Amino acid sequence: PEQEQQKTSTIEPIEAPLASFEPDDPVRACFVILVRNRELDGIASTIRQIEERFNKKYQYPYIFLNDDDFTQEFKDTTSLLTTADTRYGKLDNQMWGYPSFINQTLAADNRAEMAKSGVPYAESESYRHMCRFQSGFFFRHPLLDEFDYYWRLEPDVDYHCDLSYDVFKFMRNNGKKYGFNIAFREFGATVPSLWQTVMDFERDRPEVVKHWPVREDSLWRFVTDDNGESYNLCHFWTNFEIASLDLWRSNDYLKFFNYLDQTGGFFYERWGDAPVHSIAASMMLRKEEFHFFNDIGYRHTAYTHCPVEPEFRSKCSCNPDDNFDYNPGLSCYSVFKKALEES
Ligand code: GDP
Ligand code: MN
Repeated sequence: PEQEQQKTSTIEPIEAPLASFEPDDPVRACFVILVRNRELDGIASTIRQIEERFNKKYQYPYIFLNDDDFTQEFKDTTSLLTTADTRYGKLDNQMWGYPSFINQTLAADNRAEMAKSGVPYAESESYRHMCRFQSGFFFRHPLLDEFDYYWRLEPDVDYHCDLSYDVFKFMRNNGKKYGFNIAFREFGATVPSLWQTVMDFERDRPEVVKHWPVREDSLWRFVTDDNGESYNLCHFWTNFEIASLDLWRSNDYLKFFNYLDQTGGFFYERWGDAPVHSIAASMMLRKEEFHFFNDIGYRHTAYTHCPVEPEFRSKCSCNPDDNFDYNPGLSCYSVFKKALEES
């Protein structure tokens, strides 16, 4: 083996070829929707808007995922909302279930304890499975194998603006890996030990971290105000996400996810997929690989991103006064902007 190594080491390393494509080449992309049967009306509402605003022109397929079997009614109703392909998948208990190393009694005790804090979903077991699935598994579901980019959709949200270009081609052609439209501050009580775990990973796995951009080139300052002492709780909302699947499928991210997972923090605390995605992307990607989708007006629960520029008034149905971007205290959009500008 030693000899072989010597032989190969004299050969000039071949530059990895840049992914070669023409700007108009089709993109392997889909909508991905984790949803329950009882949320049929809510997801139908979302899909009607997505079709009207965007997809009737582009025909990207919809991938529906569920920890349960989808009902025939769910499949019939959703497939009639679009002329694009619709596919339905069930999660196995690797993707949705307790790993063997989790102490479920401890998890239950911690949930009961967290309930006193008034944090949303403090007591919910399924919410924790959901966050772990969205953090570490959706991109490995076999139904997503054939795709390179995804747009995550949720029930009961609003898409307010007409889009007249292919957002997936935009992502690929501009080297974008992560797109968002709302940046939020997390409830600290859900992630007490997350940041320390991330720091431990950096210390324990230098062979992984060495692939990552230097701090100045990354979006590091989006997630920490004190150069790594603590997490500032900023994250991109993942209920809307347009991103590269390869980002999460990379060995680096999988090692990162596994390291987090084995601490049990998804169950003993209530780590959200949003802080996990955001911290990872902020360390693993270069600044230019992020994109703020200002033109995708969007509402999830009580919060709206509405583009304020006059040109959008004819394309969007939202009220720019509702725009969340500069919400004091809650929005992290200005932290994002600063992180982009500063080194
Ligand atoms: P929030 O946005 O953080 O308030 O959480 P949601 O309740 O909206 O859940 C996020 C996404 O996961 C939504 O698309 C839900 O439909 C989906 N989801 C949440 N819990 C479950 C679950 O137990 N089973 C399935 N199949 N989907 C779920
Ligand atoms: Mn939601």
